[in-house]
This record gives sequence, C-alpha cells and structure tokens, in this order.
Amino acid sequence: MGKQTKAIINMDIKTVIKELNKALADEFLAAYQYWVGSKIVKGYFRKTVQDELLQHSKDEFRHAEMITDRIIQLDGTPILNPKDWYKLTTCGFAPPSNPNSIEILKQNLKGERCAIGIYNNLLKKIKDKDGNTFHMISHILKDEIEHECDIEAILEDIQVSKKRS
Ligand code: FE
Ligand code: FE
Ligand code: MG
Repeated sequence: MGKQTKAIINMDIKTVIKELNKALADEFLAAYQYWVGSKIVKGYFRKTVQDELLQHSKDEFRHAEMITDRIIQLDGTPILNPKDWYKLTTCGFAPPSNPNSIEILKQNLKGERCAIGIYNNLLKKIKDKDGNTFHMISHILKDEIEHECDIEAILEDIQVSKKRS
C-alpha cells in the first residue's frame, strides 16, 4: 500500500477491510440472487422484470469488483472462498423458490433495503476517516437507491395493471 494512501486513513485499516469484505459477501449473493431470478422468473411483466433483474445483477457484480479493488489497494485479502459469503453476509440470500415475478421482486426489494441500511451505516463509520472508501461507498449507495426505486416502480405498475383487468 502506498505510504501516503495509508497516512490519510484516520482509522484502523483492518476494520475498513473487514467491513469491505462483509459488503463483498452481500454483493456476490445479491448478484447471484438477481441473476438466477432473471433466468427463472414467470408471470406479470416477465420481460421487463428479466431485463431489470439482469441489469441489477451486473450492477452488483460491478460493486463487488469495486470493493475488491479497494480491499487489495489497502493490502487486504478479498474473500477467497465462496463458503465465506454465508459467514460474512448481513442481508443473506433468498432463493427464488417461487418464480412468480411479484414474489421475486419482493425478495429483491427486501435485499436492496437491507443494502441501503448497511451502506448508510458504513458511511457514518468512515466519514472523515477514510475519504476514498467513503466516496466509493457513496457511489454504490446511489446505485442501491436506484435499484430500490426501480423495483418499487415495477411492483406499482403490476398493481395498476392488475386493477384494470
Ligand atoms: Fe450492490
Ligand atoms: Fe442493489
Ligand atoms: Mg435498475
């Protein structure tokens, strides 16, 4: 790690790495939950839901990459064994065992709300202490907020079209 990179962090770097690995576990589980959901989804607005879930899956994977790069920059080791995803996750994994699009969207909405809470707490922890990680997490949180809004909007559209028919 760069000497100055380290010098500008005003907190225990191991704590930052630990928090980032927890977030990494959540991102990978979210990426897979979205991805497999997009493959098996049926019912209302199938194509719209498929496209949205697939896009979100890609976003979560990109978040995982950003987090991994920062961990490495801090001389940490990103999770090497997927077994640790389950050990370190906060939001968990909801298998889409019911392929109904409404059910899948609701599961993913729950996950997004969990992620928003986690990143908001993490930002409070690192504010004024690790500006670079703060900036990255703010960017990720902005995406999660968009994800929540997108899912809410589709669920709303489904409700509206159900009422009409
Ligand atoms: Fe994410
Ligand atoms: Fe998300
Ligand atoms: Mg979206």
